[in-house]
Amino acid sequence: MDIHKTDDSVTRRIRAMVDRYNYLRENDLYFYNQPVSEIRGGAKVLVNGREMGMYASYSYLGLIGHPRINAAAKAAVDKYGTGTNGVRTLAGSLKIHQELEETIAEFKHAEDAVTYTSGYATNLTVISTLMGRGDWVISDKLNHASIVDGCLMSGSEFRRFKHNDMDELEKRLQQAPADVSKLVVADAVFSMDGDVIDFPRMVELCQKYGAWLMMDEAHSVGVLGKTGRGIEEHFGMEGTVDIKMGTLSKTIPSVGGYVAGKKDLITYLRHASRAYIFSAALPPAQAAAANEAFKVILDEPWRIQNLWDNTHLFIDGLKSAGFDTMLTSTAIVPVLCGSDERAFALTRTAQHNDVFVLPVVSPAVPEGLARLRATITAAHEPDEIKRAMGVIEKAGKEIGIIH
Ligand code: PMP
Repeated sequence: MDIHKTDDSVTRRIRAMVDRYNYLRENDLYFYNQPVSEIRGGAKVLVNGREMGMYASYSYLGLIGHPRINAAAKAAVDKYGTGTNGVRTLAGSLKIHQELEETIAEFKHAEDAVTYTSGYATNLTVISTLMGRGDWVISDKLNHASIVDGCLMSGSEFRRFKHNDMDELEKRLQQAPADVSKLVVADAVFSMDGDVIDFPRMVELCQKYGAWLMMDEAHSVGVLGKTGRGIEEHFGMEGTVDIKMGTLSKTIPSVGGYVAGKKDLITYLRHASRAYIFSAALPPAQAAAANEAFKVILDEPWRIQNLWDNTHLFIDGLKSAGFDTMLTSTAIVPVLCGSDERAFALTRTAQHNDVFVLPVVSPAVPEGLARLRATITAAHEPDEIKRAMGVIEKAGKEIGIIH
């Protein structure tokens, strides 16, 4: 296809993107989809033939490659093969899916759970199934794209409030007519900034205004709470979230998404959500891996302690070097650079020194707030973290991000 034949708005958008792509490639500033050829332990990767410290992983507890999880996946392939025959409702549901859903329900202290093939699909289908015309969905401005897309797809009144601003949330709740269904939805830990939602106030407001509460725990399961169960455990507020959403692709080293909650809610989703009815289930190996991973989290609680020790070491070190790490208090550590170009330059120097970090630039974050989005895991050794911080500090000075 010759996309340059016409000059309509689609062609212009494509051309603008391709021009930027070419510019970044030519200037060694292109870090999209770099080929990782090996994952070595939890904290090292082989990229373009070079071994680098891994600071871009969501495997917060370092569970990728865990022998018990790998063995569970292999056993599932031996038992079930690699596919599912089709959608569960028409092709039969595998026992491993039921086991996984029971494990999730137990882990999340919920009555039941349902799984989907990605976290993205989960948010899309769950929000758009529950909410419809005339209902109100109220969402934090920094919520993940899949939440935003689910809200838009639902066709309900979609309102947003300033990031983590509970006074604004209350205003939105007051604006909603008293007799409509209301859903308040937020990330528990924000995926770009690493800060934690003001959960106690959010719960209080949902209870005051009779709103449903949905938490996306993509970055909090395995991270928050003494046993890694997430936001409710972290604040000692069990049983306050109606729709406990999470992914199986981060701390849980698999792929997929889930919602846990009351039995009736899950029964409804199983019979009404289109991503369940019209799309095939998780491959057996991935379901088995996820199932085993929840058990490993409970059996190896030291990983959560390691994660927090490493996180504090990293955040404190970067701050004392003069970096702005925004409001993070978790394993997602933004290292503010300012312009996109500075973020690209810092990434390039870090990678040239075998520290694998990636930048987040506009439009994923507002212009002027480009950053490295570094992540820490339980698998890092403190000395490795110190070396990475040294590299980032030196590069930050050269580029003029810190002085
Ligand atoms: N919610 C949040 C907060 C996320 O960060 C992500 C993944 N980046 C998702 C949902 C989507 O999950 P998945 O990658 O499993 O589709």
